[in-house]
Amino acid sequence: MTKIAFIGLGIMGGPMAANLVAAGHDVIGFNRSRGKVDALVERGGRAAGSIREAVGDADVVVTMLPDSPDVEAVVLGDDGVLASARPGTVLVDASTIRPDVSVRIAEAARAKDVGALDAPVSGGEAAAIEGTLSIMVGGESADMEAARPLLDVVGATIVHVGPAGSGQIVKAANQLIVAGTIQLVAEAIVFLEAQGVDTEAAVKVLAGGLAGNRILDRKSAGMLARQFAPGFRVDLHHKDLGIVTSAAREVGVAIPMGALAAQLMGALRAEGHGDLDHSALLLLVEQLSGRARG
Ligand code: NAD
Repeated sequence: MTKIAFIGLGIMGGPMAANLVAAGHDVIGFNRSRGKVDALVERGGRAAGSIREAVGDADVVVTMLPDSPDVEAVVLGDDGVLASARPGTVLVDASTIRPDVSVRIAEAARAKDVGALDAPVSGGEAAAIEGTLSIMVGGESADMEAARPLLDVVGATIVHVGPAGSGQIVKAANQLIVAGTIQLVAEAIVFLEAQGVDTEAAVKVLAGGLAGNRILDRKSAGMLARQFAPGFRVDLHHKDLGIVTSAAREVGVAIPMGALAAQLMGALRAEGHGDLDHSALLLLVEQLSGRARG
């Protein structure tokens, strides 16, 4: 049994922490809004009223927070993780943030004799609940091995991809592929509907051929039903497309499809849909096609 402090118990962090409890670990949770902590306690976890209380005697600290400034505040802040963690603790940041911020956090952690991994995840809420996330890990191999028992609980595909920040680079590529795929699936669905084809039958056969993909498998039913409860919020994917477009620019790589996907995600957000699931890109396709529903 490992003592795990888990900070950020939202759509992803909540089920990940619950799975760690179910696997027999001692999990103490902290979240900005208290209701999420209560939900963890109902599943057998413990509650912390502050970061200090959560982190003080933890072996591993997991953070699952929305964006780079959140992780910086929680980890590097005056009352943050590094101010309270014991030497030898390993910090696993599962949030999707800027690679340069992950590198800076790893350096600050090392100065306190704390190990740090950037370990962003893919697979969405469903994989978080199932404990089958794909986890791309950046950092030192020894820290990865120390965290492996915990990573094995929340993930099914866990790959060390390089030094600090590498996990975030791989995750940025992941988000590029996911956004572009959602956009094409959305266009295909609106196209099929406009042609009067049985879309459920169409999706079934498409999923079995070369056009098959996880977005069709996991998101198309919700898209057909116009159910866009998150899931993965448009606001968060907008953040991620900002990360990938600027990281690509830094190394002089052109990502024209990705840049277009970033513009479309930004437009969807500007329309006031930041809290919807990213599959709501379909609404934009309908709008651009003069087929928006009232
Ligand atoms: P979320 O908004 O549902 O959860 C974030 C949680 O962090 C919230 O409960 C919030 O109250 C808490 N929080 C924010 N600031 C805090 C602070 N300073 N101290 C304590 N708690 C704080 O977001 P999510 O969907 O769970 O995503 C979390 C991260 O995982 C993001 O970086 C996201 O990009 C990434 N991610 C999400 C998904 C997905 O499908 N939702 C998939 C893969 C990766």
